[in-house]
Amino acid sequence: MELNFGSLTFKVAQGDITRFPAEAIVNAANKYLEHGGGVAYAIAKVAAGDVREYIRISKEAMKEQIGRNWIEHGEVVVTPAMKMEQYGIKYVIHTVGPYCGGKWDEDKKEKLKKAILGALRKAEELGVKSIAFPAISAGIYGCPFEEVVKTFVEMVKEFSEEAKSVKEVYLVLYSKKDYERALKTLTV
Ligand code: ADP
Repeated sequence: MELNFGSLTFKVAQGDITRFPAEAIVNAANKYLEHGGGVAYAIAKVAAGDVREYIRISKEAMKEQIGRNWIEHGEVVVTPAMKMEQYGIKYVIHTVGPYCGGKWDEDKKEKLKKAILGALRKAEELGVKSIAFPAISAGIYGCPFEEVVKTFVEMVKEFSEEAKSVKEVYLVLYSKKDYERALKTLTV
């Protein structure tokens, strides 16, 4: 499933983002880059082989790149892909989406858009051609899946106006069920 916006293609895929062949993958992080569960834990484990080590690397990168020990929505931190380089991944871009707990409103949508845009702009800065996102905030943070998918499409479309280096944006869904739900959301 793909949508074209000018020179940018948005593709929905099913798979494990820790081995998805995009130059940059995005982590749905928490603001302290603790990587305690969900996709963050999976990325940390595959990248460094040891979750605590990747947390240490991430926090050090955050100090250097942001100058604080937390990030706001829209701020991102970049860490190396380490062992994920074998799949063609070069960078991990950590971003933080909103916590929803089942609720959804304009404020949550804005925060999610900021989180997505921050990662897309960083990908431009890094000069990569492809970037893969997980369904940020649709897991532990409890935002409605369909709204998250729709927000991705909206944000990628807006970003296509300024995209130069980035040509492919992937939304990688872990389960077949989520993949099918996303296709359904995009085809109505
Ligand atoms: P958040 O706290 O932002 O909600 P989660 O990690 O709980 O983040 O979940 C975000 C999404 O990532 C969920 O839809 C979850 O199913 C998915 N996910 C979990 N592991 C992986 C993985 N290895 N690859 C891709 N997506 C994943």
